[in-house]
Amino acid sequence: MIKINRPLAIPLRLSVEGAAADLQNRNDYDASPGSYTSLIIEFEILNKIYGHVSVKSALRAAQFNKCCFCEKDQVEEDGTVEHFRPKMGFREKRKEALVKPGYYWLGYTWTNLLFCCSKCNGARYKGNLFPLRAGSARARTHNDDLSLEDPYLIDPASIDPRAHIYFDDEMVKYRTDYGQETIHILGLDRTTLNDFRKALIQDLKSRIITIKAHRFCTPAQVAEAKQFLRDAQLPSAKFSAAAIDFIAKAGVALD
Ligand SMILES: [Zn+2]
Repeated sequence: MIKINRPLAIPLRLSVEGAAADLQNRNDYDASPGSYTSLIIEFEILNKIYGHVSVKSALRAAQFNKCCFCEKDQVEEDGTVEHFRPKMGFREKRKEALVKPGYYWLGYTWTNLLFCCSKCNGARYKGNLFPLRAGSARARTHNDDLSLEDPYLIDPASIDPRAHIYFDDEMVKYRTDYGQETIHILGLDRTTLNDFRKALIQDLKSRIITIKAHRFCTPAQVAEAKQFLRDAQLPSAKFSAAAIDFIAKAGVALD
């Protein structure tokens, strides 16, 4: 998980149609709050707006085709436009009932959207899970102050996850309780991710051996190995956070 730089330019579909729909939902709630809290009426948040190809491709490009949480590349997968704050309802804990309405006023809000893989976003992991630190006040309507919330889940578009999460080889570790909870919410320690990261680390290891045994390798082989390690640490590289931590631990000079 690395910091995401979401473009400042809001896709037109959101800034026009999305903004109008967000406003409509706010007005609808104010007109009859009881209907929504008693679930007589439920909000409808339309994928054709927030998940429009222009929105998805802008997020996808900003995130180098990778899931914003696990850094798995989505070149051969569809990925999905994910709401950081759940649009339809939220759970404080995985096994607790879904509390509705969710963050209906952020259904089409650019700063609430990320591009994510179907596993991280799926019901087994993040789904509607959005716990807050004990004592912080949850915003239940658009009239509440969102800044009073202290979510455990790290928003990679506003916080650098590297301050909270690091890697020891393929294994994900935490520095803070935000990191610990984020790993749990997203299942960043799941076996498939460990296996992907393990394979990457094997590739890195073979290059590190080449660099350390440079007397026995050609200059071209050493140069290729160094370039491989540089590339693996770019924000565009899959599982780059794990690569950065592994290469730092190996202590090889790449200049
Ligand atoms: Zn993911």
